[in-house]
Amino acid sequence: MLETVNPATGEVLAVFPERGRREVDAAVAAAREAAAWWEGLGWSGRRIRLLAWKSHLVRYMERLAQLVHAETGKPLDDAKLEIILAALRIDWAARNARRVLRPRRMPSGLITIHLACSVEYHPLGVVGVIGPWNYPVSTPVGSIGYALAAGNAVVFKPSELTPATGEWLARSFREALAVFGQPMPVLQAVTGGAATGDALVRSGVDKISFTGSADTARKVLTAAAGNLTPVIAECGGKDAMLVAADADLDAAADAAAWGAMTNAGQACVGIERVYVANTVYHSFLEKLTQRVADLRPGSDSQARYGPMTAPEQAEIVAKHVADALARGGRAAAGGTDAVTPPYIRPVVLADVPEDSAAVSEETFGPTVTVTPVASLAQAVALANRSRYGLGSAVFARDRSAAMTAARSLRTGMTSINSVLGFALVPSLPFGGVAESGFGRVHGRDGLREFSTPKAITRQRMRPLLNLFSFGRTPRDMRRIVTLVTLLHGRLHRPRSTGRRRGAHGGRRG
Ligand code: NAD
Repeated sequence: MLETVNPATGEVLAVFPERGRREVDAAVAAAREAAAWWEGLGWSGRRIRLLAWKSHLVRYMERLAQLVHAETGKPLDDAKLEIILAALRIDWAARNARRVLRPRRMPSGLITIHLACSVEYHPLGVVGVIGPWNYPVSTPVGSIGYALAAGNAVVFKPSELTPATGEWLARSFREALAVFGQPMPVLQAVTGGAATGDALVRSGVDKISFTGSADTARKVLTAAAGNLTPVIAECGGKDAMLVAADADLDAAADAAAWGAMTNAGQACVGIERVYVANTVYHSFLEKLTQRVADLRPGSDSQARYGPMTAPEQAEIVAKHVADALARGGRAAAGGTDAVTPPYIRPVVLADVPEDSAAVSEETFGPTVTVTPVASLAQAVALANRSRYGLGSAVFARDRSAAMTAARSLRTGMTSINSVLGFALVPSLPFGGVAESGFGRVHGRDGLREFSTPKAITRQRMRPLLNLFSFGRTPRDMRRIVTLVTLLHGRLHRPRSTGRRRGAHGGRRG
């Protein structure tokens, strides 16, 4: 059995079963039947049901937020914010699935003009979603909502730290759909820890959408290899914020404070490093330390963020802070004494060497490093040294410099003059590169991740050339070679530049 505990008080909230291999397989078998029913409902049948689920979440927001608050310790308003994000994601997926995935004609080209071509996106069948605890509603719903909208059934394994929230989500789906008649088990939750997750990966589902640490992702990929089950991996990050000399420093400091400390820093796209132009480094640091000075963790209604949800994370945070200080960094706010589990007060570390753990590893706590740089280009180079590549942020007034820096950052997502902006928009693909994972959730790319493209060609007239037949003649072959040489055999020379023309005395003739 699995106990879910309030991390602020240590109180046991409820007990859930640890589902074993047999129970997970049974859930997947039931989901397979449900998937056929769900696909048969068509775009509009699924859309109306998903929108009903969305309104259910919004109407019962208070109740769900209380549960998330109790299980994770995050402030009630932060819990509400993630429920709102989840509702926006379901809404977008439900309303756009048909437009993105419906059959569409494709041009066939001159040589294959006899073929009418189309592509359409079919559901995969059953998708296994494995979720984390830090955003136990908005993160899994970012996969569940899009997978359901694409026509799949889902078996969801919530984190062992948030099983009550996971069960609530699956039950709310059933309740919301009850007005349409008895629903099939299109969304089920299977509670448990690593073994339950492993059973889901090995169950023969058609895809796994995994969110968690890179180390667990490696285990998931190994287990998935047995059945060649495809995997989306949404892993951790070490997101950097770049602050240019011309940036609005108040806005940048405000965003850095929130980006680093929200949810006690337990955010995959939380800001963990800031690189600031030399000329504004000291004023930025002062503004940032002023902003975090009033942030108090706790579980009361005035607290700005909650406890560390996973008790062992506090030890990692303490280790990173101690290592940074031992290597010559200095604490502009907080310090080793800020770590008083289950709470950690804000820690701002300045002048920390780039090879220390606080700069190179995911800390996942309310800490941030601030480092001066000579230019935006140097900031980009340092930011890109990370083995992670999830999100990033750039603060600069010069729009073109900001865009250049954003494009050069080797991350899946970048916000300019805001933090985490990309996570608010349900139409934008969400995901990372390198050790932050692969595959995308949200947006069109997210819908397509949970579909398989189906190409169809229909011969609409006799082919000009009989190519795909043993009846092909030497004449057919000569004609295709001639045609291809005419169409594709031309040598494409680079266009001559104005300067070269000048050197040859200008345009001829
Ligand atoms: P975790 O890797 O410990 O666990 C994630 C999930 O995997 C849990 O449900 C867990 O029970 C399950 N699991 C553990 N071992 C497994 C196994 N062998 N096979 C299958 N499933 C297994 O991560 P966590 O502590 O829950 O979450 C924190 C991590 O998640 C951080 O690194 C954070 O950055 C990352 N995260 C990423 C995103 C994103 O979208 N990129 C979002 C939230 C969190």
